[in-house]
Parts: sequence; C-alpha cells; structure tokens
Amino acid sequence: MKFSGKNVLVTGSSRGIGAEIARTLAEYGLKVWISYRSGADEADKLHNELQERGLQSAVIGFDVSNEDEFIGAIKTIIDADGELSYLVNNAGITNDKLAIRMKGEDFDSVIRANLNSTFYGCREALKAMNKKRFGAVVNISSIVGETGNAGQTNYSASKGAVISMTKSFALEGSARGIRFNAITPGFIETDMTATLKDEIKDSYISNIPLKRFGSGREVAEATAFLLSDGAGYITGETLKVNGGLSM
Ligand code: NAP
Repeated sequence: MKFSGKNVLVTGSSRGIGAEIARTLAEYGLKVWISYRSGADEADKLHNELQERGLQSAVIGFDVSNEDEFIGAIKTIIDADGELSYLVNNAGITNDKLAIRMKGEDFDSVIRANLNSTFYGCREALKAMNKKRFGAVVNISSIVGETGNAGQTNYSASKGAVISMTKSFALEGSARGIRFNAITPGFIETDMTATLKDEIKDSYISNIPLKRFGSGREVAEATAFLLSDGAGYITGETLKVNGGLSM
C-alpha cells in the first residue's frame, strides 16, 4: 500500500484493535504516535517492539474525552513532526446495561469517550490538514452503530453518531481533498469481547457467516487501505469488517 503522508496518530493504541492498527501502519512505513490513557506500560512495550524492528513510533498519553488534552496532543505532534498526515479515532469504551437500569452518567460517559472524542480529533485534524491540503481520517465505529443492540443504548448511540458525523466531516474536508471514512467492526477478539461468556460467544459465532470472530489485524488492514493513496476517491464511506454478519 502506498502512503503519501508520513505520520499518524492512532488513539487508544496501547492494546486491542488500536495496537494492531499502530503496528500495521508502522509496517507500511508511517511514523506512528501510539496513544494511551492508563496503559503507559503497554504503550511503551509496543513502542519498544517497533523500535527494535527499525520502525518509527512515539508515545503520547492523553484522555481523548478531554477537549483540551486532545487539542494539546495534536499540537505536540505537529510541533514534533511539522504536520499530522493521518488520524485514526479508535479509542472507545463500553458500559453495558439494559436501558431501564442505565443512569444518565452511564450514558453520558460513553458518549463523551466515543463520540465527543471523535469530534475533537476530527476537528483538530481537519484544521491541521486544511493547512497542508492533505490528510485522511478513519473513525472506528461499530456494527451496533448500524443495528442497535440490547444493553448498549449508550454505546450504539455513540457509534451510530460517529457514522453520520464522519459523513459531515467528509463533506467539510472534501474541498481540500481531506478524506474521512468510518469502519464498523463486528465481533473482534480483544479485551472488549473477552468478557463475553462462552455460550453467548458461541451463539454470536453461529450467526456470523465466516463462523469466527475477527482479528485486530483484519480491522487494521482495512484501516490502512482507507488511509492509503489507493483509497483516494473514497470519502464519507462506512466499511463493514464483520465476517458477513450484516448481510
Ligand atoms: P479495548 O481492547 O478495550 O482497548 C481500548 C483502547 O482505548 C485502549 O487502548 C484504551 O487505553 C483506549 N481508551 C479508552 N478510553 C480512552 C480515553 N478516554 N482516552 C484515551 N484512550 C482511551 O478496545 P478494542 O476492542 O480494541 O476496541 C477499539 C475500538 O473498536 C473501540 O472504539 C471499540 O468501540 C471498537 N469496536 C470494537 C469491537 C470489538 O469487538 N472489540 C467491535 C466493534 C467496534 P488505555 O488502556 O490506555 O486506557
């Protein structure tokens, strides 16, 4: 895959899908900013792994749901590298409960972590990318942002809004050739799905045409494609990476 840009910030890349996205983009030759909130050790471990392999990376810690911290992080990157070529808004959380038991703060905290954060990132990236007339952003949404899910009114609302907001940013970025796309993963093997009971996991797998959960690497390769020059005519799109689950 060919990339005309040089660096990328991957939020929430201390572990899970984000770590695989960071590893994959470093392998494709980009300088990767590995970001974490609490997992400094895991972020450092990935950074050391990439350095030992002769790949380019740096580590940055901030809370994506804090507007000032997100603004500060993008400034740090631009001060260091002179630009931000690509952004992957990947950091996200769940806090599942049936709606009748969900408190306002349970709802708001997930919206802040998944949706407000993606807005801050897209806005700051667009400002920086506008100046260079170059850049691309991928927002990691979720299949439940398209379908809804019992027990996830907060999470599905945040992820559905990420899809529509991505299209709005794509329209605002298009005049300068800056592309915004979303990915909706299905069930992917990470800490987020590790807590599922075996019988629930088996029942999900029985409904997935490819009969397995996906890997972080499979989401990462789709992300790399959408950022790459090869996807130059794709913007405002939502790419499903779900083993055929939504057919
Ligand atoms: P994960 O294993 O739980 O990892 C979440 C990552 O996000 C961690 O690096 C965590 O950092 C970071 N993070 C969370 N809140 C943050 C905050 N406020 N500020 C900064 N970083 C924060 O999750 P995952 O399964 O890899 O999921 C990654 C993305 O894919 C999420 O947006 C998720 O909604 C989406 N997704 C996942 C699946 C799935 O099946 N796994 C399916 C569809 C969509 P620290 O550990 O350093 O705190």
